Amino acid sequence: MDFSLSMEQEILRNSVRDFAENEIKPVARELDEKETFSYDTMRKMAALGLFGMFVSEKYGGQGMDYISYAIATEEIARVDGSHAATVAAGNSLGIGPLYYFGSEEQKQKYLPKLCSGEALWGFGLTEPDAGSDASNSKTTAVLDGDQWVINGSKIFITNASTKLTSGVTSLCRTGTREDGRPELSCILVEAGTPGFEAREMHGKLMWRASNTSELYFDDCRVPDENMLGPRGNGFHQMMQTLDGGRLSIGAMGLGGAQGCYDLALKYSRERTQFGKPISNFQVNAFKLADMALEIECARLILYKACWLRDQQKPFGKEAAMAKLHCSEVMYRCANHAVQLHGGYGLMKEYDVERFYRDQKLLEIGEGTSEVQRIVISRLIGAL
Ligand SMILES: Cc1cc2nc3c(=O)[nH]c(=O)nc-3n(C[C@H](O)[C@H](O)[C@H](O)COP(=O)(O)OP(=O)(O)OC[C@H]3O[C@@H](n4cnc5c(N)ncnc54)[C@H](O)[C@@H]3O)c2cc1C
Repeated sequence: MDFSLSMEQEILRNSVRDFAENEIKPVARELDEKETFSYDTMRKMAALGLFGMFVSEKYGGQGMDYISYAIATEEIARVDGSHAATVAAGNSLGIGPLYYFGSEEQKQKYLPKLCSGEALWGFGLTEPDAGSDASNSKTTAVLDGDQWVINGSKIFITNASTKLTSGVTSLCRTGTREDGRPELSCILVEAGTPGFEAREMHGKLMWRASNTSELYFDDCRVPDENMLGPRGNGFHQMMQTLDGGRLSIGAMGLGGAQGCYDLALKYSRERTQFGKPISNFQVNAFKLADMALEIECARLILYKACWLRDQQKPFGKEAAMAKLHCSEVMYRCANHAVQLHGGYGLMKEYDVERFYRDQKLLEIGEGTSEVQRIVISRLIGAL
């Protein structure tokens, strides 16, 4: 067993950490405050190679392994959740389905610009009445000649209404299966297609500088060739995409927890009360010790899950465990970090305030914590 990272992975971690500290940290608070998606940091993240990380160089990707992708996401999340969301959704949810299920023609057409970060792509699964119960999608697609006519709506879709967004993958009911259940298929809808509209959502508690949208399809016509993979495979494709996506949410939880810990340790050593640094009170030192321990365990479970994926071994159970555990570790670390900052931790000029809010999404997006427990229970044979 070898726990060391490769030299390339260490270099990647250092370069993404420097980038996040120098380019994202100085603007993160203001972007959050103003609920603004930054095209400037997006361009810089693209230039650093943060999109298409696990995609083969043949399609313009970086050809890296999944551990490297997790490390990069972790380092962005250590500084800011919104930017990490743009990267994680861009890679796992935007690029992932096209790369793993797209035809050669679709890959050639869409991936190079997504991998260079010139374009973004949305993952349209969630609907107003179909969240955890995603197979209950109501959006329909009816074949008319050689075109699909799509009607319905989606909600909470990341990266779907930026000026760079070139399209979305949308899960649609395309018929009824022999067993009477809905036939679900993924259809690619390009931005600008008549009858398709993506409207940006505002007023989020967290990830306020990340782009979130509602999607509307009103007799939206797309060519039959925009079907992703075989007709009827849509739900399976979406669930497989989420297995990978959960690793990136896990990386966001791990990075966010590390960010909370780093801030809390620094502050606790500097802040004095009763004539000594507050870290010298054992109750506070124990909080920091617990954070360090939990982060270490979270990193081990996340990297193991990524390693399984890189070895092409089954990783669904470990991905659900990593997502669940890392998001809950960040919950506890954000709580401790705010507590250690006292009243200042509740003020916007202290980054722990933003971490505390950003954490909550990790327990809800890409399958809530309850759904992760259902997935794990099934995979260990308990349910
Ligand atoms: C900022 C943001 C970005 C997002 N990005 C995307 C995206 O890019 N693409 C996309 O498709 N979706 C996206 N989502 C949607 C997200 O994945 C869903 O919000 C999530 O899956 C939960 O669905 P829901 O909100 O409808 O909650 P519900 O499914 O209504 O759940 C409500 C509560 O009931 C619980 N619950 C539901 N079913 C069960 C059960 N069987 N057993 C026990 N408890 C249960 C849940 O755990 C939760 O606590 C995003 C959401 C947000 C907020």
